[in-house]
Parts: sequence; C-alpha cells; structure tokens
Amino acid sequence: MPTVAFHTLGCKVNQGETAAMAHLFREAGYKVVDFSAIADVYVINTCAVTVQAEQKSRQIAHRARDRNPQAMVVMVGCYPQVAKGRGKLPDGVDLLVGSGDKPRIVELVERAREASSPLVAISHWTEDTSFQMISASQEVGRTRATLKVQDGCQQFCSYCIIPYARGPERSRPIPEVVQEAQSLVKAGFKEIVVTGIHVGSYGRDLPGRPDLVQLLEEVLQVPGLERLRLSSIEPNEIGHSLMSLMRRYPNFCRHLHIPLQAGHDRILKAMNRRYNTSEYRSIIDMVRSYIPEIAITTDVIVGFPTETEAEFQATYDFVADIGFSRLHVFRYSRRPGTPAAEMAGLVPKEEKARRSQALIALGRRMAKEYAEGLMGSEQTVLWENQDDDGVWSGHTDTYVTVCSRDSDLRSNQITRVLIDGKNAWIKV
Ligand code: SF4
Repeated sequence: MPTVAFHTLGCKVNQGETAAMAHLFREAGYKVVDFSAIADVYVINTCAVTVQAEQKSRQIAHRARDRNPQAMVVMVGCYPQVAKGRGKLPDGVDLLVGSGDKPRIVELVERAREASSPLVAISHWTEDTSFQMISASQEVGRTRATLKVQDGCQQFCSYCIIPYARGPERSRPIPEVVQEAQSLVKAGFKEIVVTGIHVGSYGRDLPGRPDLVQLLEEVLQVPGLERLRLSSIEPNEIGHSLMSLMRRYPNFCRHLHIPLQAGHDRILKAMNRRYNTSEYRSIIDMVRSYIPEIAITTDVIVGFPTETEAEFQATYDFVADIGFSRLHVFRYSRRPGTPAAEMAGLVPKEEKARRSQALIALGRRMAKEYAEGLMGSEQTVLWENQDDDGVWSGHTDTYVTVCSRDSDLRSNQITRVLIDGKNAWIKV
C-alpha cells in the first residue's frame, strides 16, 4: 500500500483542506502516515502570509527530500499560487499544486509519477471560479473538525497576499454545509469549527444571498452537534443577529476571533481595513452586551510601513484597554505584489522585534488575567489528549486550555468541571 504524509502550515482553512486531501488519498488506497515517517509521497500544504512562512514551506520540503530521497515531494496551496504570479516557482519539488487545484491532488500525484520533470498544476483564478471543496467527514482520531464554508477574499487589505493566493469569494451552499456537518457528527466529532478565508462574506455569491447567520443557524440545529466554533470574523461583519444567535444556542461557542491589526486610525486606513478604532470599540461593546463572559481573541501587526513609535504605543494602549483573552502578534512582512510592498518608511527589523515582544508580553498578561477569572467557576471541557504523566488537557468553549489528572476522563468526551486549581486547572 503506498504511503502519504502531510505537513500543514498556516490557517485553519489549510488544516481542514489537509484533512480533506488525506481523505481523498485514503479513498484512493493510500495509507496516511506521520510526516516523520518514511513515506512515498510528502505533501506540504503551504502558507504565503509572511516571508517566514514561505521559507518554512521550503525547509519542510527539503527535510522531506532528505528523509526519503526516492519520495515524491509535493507543495500545494498559497505559496505555489503566489510564486506563480511572481514568475518564480519554488524548486526542488516534484509537483506544485495551486490553491484551487487541491481537489485534484491524487490524480496529479499519479500524473507526476509518470512525468520526467517536475509537474506544475496551478490554475488561474477567474471571476466564475466556483467553490471547490472536498469532504473531510472521514477524518478520524481528532476531536475537532474544521468545516470550510467559504473561500477567497476581495477585501484587499494593503499588506495581505491572501486575495492573490485564494482568488475571489466563493461560498458553499447551505444544504451542502449541513450535510457535511451531519456526516462529521455521525463520524463522532463533538466540535465543528466553521472556517473560511473571509467568512463574513458568506453567501454574497449564492442565489438568494443567504448570509452567515442563516448558515450558522442551520448548522447549530444539526442533531447531536455539541459545539460550533466560528474561526475568525472581521469586526464590521458582526451584527446583532449573530450575537443574538450565540445567546440563543448553547452549542455556539462563546468565543470570537476578531482581527484588529492596528489600534491607530491612520495605520488602519493605510492597511485598507474597513473600520476605525471607535467603530471597533463599539462592536466589542455590543458583543459583550450580549455575552459578558465571551472570549475575544485577535491579531495585531506591528511595524507596518511608516508606523511611528507613538502610533505603536496607541495600538498597545488600545489592545490593553479592550482586553483580549488571547493575542496573536505578527511582524509586518513585505509581500511583493501588495500595495504595502511599494510603501516607503519601512520599520527596521530590530524595532519590529521590540514592538512585537512588548505586545506578546501584554498578550500573556491578558491571557493570564482572563484565565484567572475562571477560577472557582464550572466550565464544560472537551477533553482531547493525555500526556505521558497522565494529565488530560482539553478546551472550554471559550478556548481556554484546562488540565486534569482525573483518570475517568476519555478523549472526545465533554464534561463539566469545577476549576479549583487542584483537580482541574488552567494552562495559559
Ligand atoms: S480580510 Fe484582509 S487580512 Fe483577511 S484575508 Fe482578506 S485581505 Fe487578507
């Protein structure tokens, strides 16, 4: 039986697509093995969001080649897609597959076997590129499944390469999504993470223009679905209807990831973000008025071109003032082909590192404060893994990691526990 191994970089959408590709390989008679094993085919599902992500994609490909020089090494997704646009493809691999060509992966691997030179299968995006998705419902052995409902982005934030890597916005029709959710529940998944590249745009391209709230309400009603988590949503796409849905459905996780990117209006404008700081603040206030204990996580970019020390400080103060349960900090990375790549006023590397460290430290403090606020409360936890010392870990619906030594716990089980710091404690 031929073997295939996967390594995934980047976002939750990529994770879901890797699961779906693994399913296609299994159906074609392959055995999926760990990436550290000797495999016949290594698939690297790449990311191009930063220079470092591209570098890492190349390093992983080299590592796979070293592990088994006879193997076929395949790079798929965002990196080959944007590299093609730049006219410089990564070398040293046997097959390059574009973002929209993932559903053809097995056929392409078979074709690459016969080819005498590396095969390139990177399609161009067109306006009518329809939604391409492959089922992930046979993914086994994990407690949380990702369910991709949307692809592409047309926001064109000035720093972001994703619209060029993923193409125009396309949505998956509601009945298909519901069917997939039913299969995932049937396969034993307790939690489904609804993902998309720009999930707030869901439905704009579909007949009748259903919106995200309509879609989520249908999925929340799938019998047996214990948890639905929304992966990330732009601030200006959160309305009263979404929050009222979260309040009405106890299986809708009380957690939203709402990218901020900067806490200064001039920088937000230069980034081509569609809100200013006072609008962002109002949205957070509205969200908290519905669910006061909600966990709000965010992304911030430091060192965007021309960002001054005072503007960075404004971002720092804004983040501290809003208070997030988790903070992801990114150093600005110049992406050729984006408007920001042409901007003058680059922030020196050392300065970006300093700003990033300051915000990471703030993020840790805020995460700790949020976690400490759960002490003495009862939480529902989806238990996931047990380590070699017998300690179980899992997540609350607010995406806080809880640990316990309770030997009665089982993987993929949801229990209600008292966070007392002894029998169950928080890991920050
Ligand atoms: S919304 Fe902005 S940051 Fe997010 S994928 Fe689209 S262009 Fe990139």
